[in-house]
Amino acid sequence: MMNLNETLPICIAGQWRLGGGERYATLYPATGEPVAYLHAASVADVEEAIAGADHAFRTSGWAQKNPHERAAVLYRVAQLIRERGEALAQMQRLDNGKPISETRNLVASAAGTFQFFAAACETLEETLTPMRGDNLTMSVYEPMGVVAAITPWNSPIASEAQKMAPALAAGNAVVVKPAEVTPLAALELARICIEAGVPAGMISVLPGKGSVIGDAITLHPLVKRVSFTGGTTTGKHIAHIAADKMMPVSLELGGKSPTMVFEDADLDHAVAGVLYGIFSSSGESCIAGSRLFVARALYDGFMERLAAGAAALRVGDPADERTQMGPLITARHREGIERYVDIGVTDGGRIRTGGVRPKGEKFERGYYYTPTIIEGLSNDQRICQEEIFGPVLVAMPFDDEDDLIRQANDSVYALAAGIWTRDYKRAWRIGRAVQAGNVWINTYKQFSISTPFGGWRDSGLGREKGRLGILQYMEQKAMYWGMNEQPLPWAG
Ligand code: NAD
Repeated sequence: MMNLNETLPICIAGQWRLGGGERYATLYPATGEPVAYLHAASVADVEEAIAGADHAFRTSGWAQKNPHERAAVLYRVAQLIRERGEALAQMQRLDNGKPISETRNLVASAAGTFQFFAAACETLEETLTPMRGDNLTMSVYEPMGVVAAITPWNSPIASEAQKMAPALAAGNAVVVKPAEVTPLAALELARICIEAGVPAGMISVLPGKGSVIGDAITLHPLVKRVSFTGGTTTGKHIAHIAADKMMPVSLELGGKSPTMVFEDADLDHAVAGVLYGIFSSSGESCIAGSRLFVARALYDGFMERLAAGAAALRVGDPADERTQMGPLITARHREGIERYVDIGVTDGGRIRTGGVRPKGEKFERGYYYTPTIIEGLSNDQRICQEEIFGPVLVAMPFDDEDDLIRQANDSVYALAAGIWTRDYKRAWRIGRAVQAGNVWINTYKQFSISTPFGGWRDSGLGREKGRLGILQYMEQKAMYWGMNEQPLPWAG
């Protein structure tokens, strides 16, 4: 593991050295104290990393290895992540302030992702397609070359694994641009990949400002694909660049996901699920269930239980195993959330619980905020439409299914939705009618690496995960083998 007491080197096509950009500190969100110092990458570093990656792609032999040989290396990556799991989880806790119970899950998910794509790599089949003449026809896949992974700060190691594992499995070189405030997991993951046997030049990690480093990577002609997770505005900017380059992209973007609770729901499950859906990860989650619709007959009683549950959540020290909600990522992000709460109140919303910073000495230095529920607004108002990316739930009653579906779908986002009912026919009806990339029925925020993930509309483009996720990092090629005994008729 890297030594956080030294200024950290970054990884430029396998070369570890100080970045050429400005020196900065990453801060522990629970205390505001520095965790590590490093220099951001410079634009010259980007140039060198991509040239080095392209060279490694052409000469290291990684892309030419048999799939089971690449898979063996990726299985070893999974194994090393597991062996160092606790240290990685603690490092990630410092990196972004998530509770330790959550960072342990993210580390386990990163290991699972490498294992899964190792398996996908060695079992990927190319196709012999039905012949329609004297040609043997096949569909095969090639790696793309240098691909980029641009990730946000909210789930570092898992986001990076989700892109690095399939990209490497496919035979590509990867340039990772982690969020400026959370670079540690990506740097450590790069070390692990190289130690496991990925040729060093195939991996770069370039921390720094998105508008400088991210842009330089996206614009670079040798970068053949960008896999991006982050905000919708940034995603659209990347899509414009991609259009000019005719470059494929996948964009995992924001959300404002509806959760719907019907009269016949199992209320214990629904209360726990709604709380988990919005307040886990302090609401800093693209799939947070941030808009709640509750059947009117149930509304008052349900909200009573929900508000009591929210107020009882254990907010505090991320190092404490029992903590459910840690601090927010930065002081600035907390201020943004507070502005949204103010807008909600100015627009006529009532704070049912929360809406303040928690009091007490242990909260003074960190960027904490209480779990907040706001009622009394309608779905078209600003805080019901815009992504807050924090622990703020807006709750509204609904009267009938048609009106519910209209409201649930009335959003520029369409990433996820939750349905709580015992009636399986209704769950099916609503589940099919709601527009979202991911629908959870009587559960929420559950993931499987074997199930494709992505959003509709402003929530994104393309899918990650799933066995075929590896194909996103490959170019398809059709091959025709002439089997004719005679020349083509035209010749004669
Ligand atoms: P962001 O868009 O500001 O940044 C994401 C990444 O993009 C960072 O590494 C950043 O440095 C980089 N970046 C910024 N400007 C860039 C540019 N011009 N060119 C290239 N790269 C650039 O988002 P954030 O604040 O880090 O993360 C929060 C957002 O991410 C939220 O909107 C959230 O919903 C979204 N998110 C989506 C998913 C998903 O899977 N759909 C998952 C997690 C987070």
